Amino acid sequence: MKKSFLITFLFAGAAWCAQAQKNMFTPYNNKIVAHRGAWKANHLPENSIASLKQAIALKCAGSEFDVHLTADDSLVINHDPTYQGLTIATTTYAELAKKKLSNGETIPTLQQYIAAGMQNNNGTLLVLEVKPFPSSPERALRCAEKSWKLVRAMGAASRTVYISFDYEVLKKIRSLDAKAIVQYLNGEKTPAELKQDKIDGADYHFSVFKKNEGWIKELRNNKQICNAWTVNDAAEMDWLLANNVDYITTNEPELLATRIAVAPVNKGWKLVWSDEFFTPGLPDSTKWSYNVGDHGWGNHEKQYYSNADTANAINKNGVLHIIARRDNATGKYSSARMVTKGKGDWLYGRVEVRAKIPAGKGLWPAIWMLPTEWAYGGWPKSGEIDIMEHVGYMPDSVFTSIHTESFNHVIHTQKTKGFSLPDMYDAFHVYAIEWKKERIDFFVDDVLRFSFDNTGKGSKEWPFDKAFHLLLNVAVGGDWGGKHGIDDAIFPQSMQVDYVRVYQ
Ligand code: MG
Repeated sequence: MKKSFLITFLFAGAAWCAQAQKNMFTPYNNKIVAHRGAWKANHLPENSIASLKQAIALKCAGSEFDVHLTADDSLVINHDPTYQGLTIATTTYAELAKKKLSNGETIPTLQQYIAAGMQNNNGTLLVLEVKPFPSSPERALRCAEKSWKLVRAMGAASRTVYISFDYEVLKKIRSLDAKAIVQYLNGEKTPAELKQDKIDGADYHFSVFKKNEGWIKELRNNKQICNAWTVNDAAEMDWLLANNVDYITTNEPELLATRIAVAPVNKGWKLVWSDEFFTPGLPDSTKWSYNVGDHGWGNHEKQYYSNADTANAINKNGVLHIIARRDNATGKYSSARMVTKGKGDWLYGRVEVRAKIPAGKGLWPAIWMLPTEWAYGGWPKSGEIDIMEHVGYMPDSVFTSIHTESFNHVIHTQKTKGFSLPDMYDAFHVYAIEWKKERIDFFVDDVLRFSFDNTGKGSKEWPFDKAFHLLLNVAVGGDWGGKHGIDDAIFPQSMQVDYVRVYQ
């Protein structure tokens, strides 16, 4: 990443923007908060003035830093309570200043830091973390009040946001200043509790939002700020962007900028349905049902599809596993076919499934969609959309298809595109469609692989103007999957699904 990289992606409705406008400072309208400044790419010291300037140069929406109080009541910027072996609370500023940061800077005072943060800065908020002081809570409150007074005196109130793990610190700032923006870091307070205490938002570790999946939406509904820290992984960023959190604090602002650039929400899509499979055990019964039985499903398939059985469908570590098994005693196969029918049915939209595909001769895993009402009649009249199909006897190959009355495999007219994807067994890929009135586009990892146009000739060719639902399954054998037999040595085999996200 070049040093001159500028973050220029715009989002509508950023919470700080609305909050800060009343205070005359408009932050850049992206979601990026540089954690301890933007230090990593340029090997700068964390919490240095150089790292703050780099965050401003990148046009981050915010730059975070940590404030401590020295023995002689100076406010200094450092993460840990110690600085190069010296305990800040029991060391004077003059003693601390003798030791330099790796780039030659002296440990910044808050005054120097704010002054630097007001230079050539048209939109990067100063995210001021008041550090807790457990052995003397009063000391943290004093640090908070002194910081707040200095910010005011320097005319930086409208460009400063206060955060802390110490709830009393935030309540103190709130008592001093009804307009200050204050966000809590520790994660145990519900959005309702924060609201009651007039705390503006939750700035929580991203794992907190995984454990409390409703909180992001609740914060948004309450017009509270939703900020997640410290997010350095692209997949975690993608999840938070899909859910449209207000801010993401990161050591990797350049990476986050690239994820924002490709995020569906940045292209006008809005998340309407999703499963991240965060809760271990059986998949969420409010989102999934099961097609059950062993009658071959019209394709002479060999498996028995079980009903809500963790032997065949289970969430582990945020990933759904659909497991095809062979019972060695009976020689019978079991698996799962999960459907969203009645719980997730959509007309048009972007449907994306991040998955890792199981390998082995005889397997037939699929990510696909069927019509919910069959308004134009039984298969294939009402249509079928195959987002991803794979047959194990053709390794490394993926197929995307549509079936309609005029175009289907029985009469050899189906519209299909097959392509090679050599790492499909080892890596997760995002299999997606963008389904609009005029066309369905099929993607793998944002690369367009196949398009099917609405010919405008009616339902025989385009029955895709009714609601469809999603199916995830791993079939065993069958007319296509079992064409070259089943290798019984491969079992068990899992299709792993990291998430399903549906946008409209
Ligand atoms: Mg911090």
